[in-house]
Amino acid sequence: MELPFSESYKIKMVEPVRRTTREERLKWIDEAQYNLFKLKSDYVFIDLLTDSGTGAMSDKQWSEMMLGDESYAGARSYTKLKDTIEEILGFPYFLPTHQGRAAENVLFSTLVKEGHIIPGNSHFDTTKGHIEFRKATAIDCTIDEAFDTTLDHPFKGNVDLVKLEKVYKEYGKEKIPFTVVTVTCNSSGGQPVSMANLKAVYELSQKYGIAVLFDSARFAENAYFIKIREEGYAEKSIKEIVREMYQYADMMTMSSKKDAIVNMGGFIGLKDQELYRQACTFNIMFEGFVTYGGMSGRDMNALAQGLREGTEFDYLETRIKQVQYLGDKLREYGIPVQYPIGGHAVFVDAKKFLPHVPKEQCQAQTLGVELYIEGGIRGVEIGTLLADRDPVTRENRYPELELLRLAIPRRVYTNNHMDYIAAALKNVWDRRESITSGYNITWEAPIMRHFTVELEKA
Ligand SMILES: *Cc1c(COP(=O)(O)O)cnc(C)c1O
Repeated sequence: MELPFSESYKIKMVEPVRRTTREERLKWIDEAQYNLFKLKSDYVFIDLLTDSGTGAMSDKQWSEMMLGDESYAGARSYTKLKDTIEEILGFPYFLPTHQGRAAENVLFSTLVKEGHIIPGNSHFDTTKGHIEFRKATAIDCTIDEAFDTTLDHPFKGNVDLVKLEKVYKEYGKEKIPFTVVTVTCNSSGGQPVSMANLKAVYELSQKYGIAVLFDSARFAENAYFIKIREEGYAEKSIKEIVREMYQYADMMTMSSKKDAIVNMGGFIGLKDQELYRQACTFNIMFEGFVTYGGMSGRDMNALAQGLREGTEFDYLETRIKQVQYLGDKLREYGIPVQYPIGGHAVFVDAKKFLPHVPKEQCQAQTLGVELYIEGGIRGVEIGTLLADRDPVTRENRYPELELLRLAIPRRVYTNNHMDYIAAALKNVWDRRESITSGYNITWEAPIMRHFTVELEKA
């Protein structure tokens, strides 16, 4: 008998979770104004809101916590992280920050000015927020295939080079401080970018004198997909693939809460010393001195160890196979999900799931609320609420995709949890015809409204 696939770790510590009743959940979600971000975590049985900072650290990472050096300047922990970043990612200059958006804040304060254009592949919401906050414009150059959830394409995160070149020709390097390549592409469904595309984007950008920034939160998952799906990489290690990927980047911003498997942290990686010097000023102003930048020494130690573990094939295989296990189960039930299944999450196509709910009433949010009521599972809307209003016209932006994202925390849940999630969503699927109305906004913030929005039943 062939031995089945099995996890590459065992469990050393557990945290109890409580099942809740449907009546309790109906009450709590109403009190939360139908915003899943406003629910207490104790009211959630399985939390798939995000895979950001929700992973389980390893025994080695916890040991590293004890070795942290908390010196204000020149800490050993800083040097350890610096050396690890240079070894794994190839950046000689780095700045620690407290999380990914802080890295964006520091770097974009250095580089982005009013009127600038930042092309990229479906910019992440905080990235776009930091661009628009500076009165610059993000232009999405993702390949069209990314927007058809049923289409099988191995690298749906790819940048469309024709679209990108058009932007380069129109605005030129005077208006474009850099291009952002998001690996893997979160907003388009955790979809990877191929090595060939990374190389082509870099070469095209070089031709126009424009720098390339990798938004790197899930760079290791991207490398896994290159190994599995792209010709010529099957025999290469993840670490070799990562080094090759970063030949095609001038800078990186990192949310370490993702592929570096820590609960908090981020950094900027740079190849240019002059740019590093300029960014240091903003790091000191916003984050802290350049050798800690918003992180404790112990946290920098755990992050360095997390970068090593996060780029091990066995860990990545366990992680991505669990996400695929859930996705395949949902497909078996006939539920419309983004295909192929992404690295960190399963994306349910809410437009196809709830076609009777008008788009003005937030289809993906409606599905998220239904899944919570059904099983105490918390996903997150990647749709109209997240897309926010146009900064100029203030009109609602209706994105091409209305998705409910079920993000799987790293090394946290078992496949029994995946079975439970699939069954709960199947129950909602079976009663989908009866769901004909969604939610209206009663209050929203002027920017990044999805976190705090208040809703009522339509
Ligand atoms: C999470 C994420 C960010 C922002 O990082 P935070 O640590 O949440 O501030 C930026 N880009 C991408 C692609 C992300 O997934």
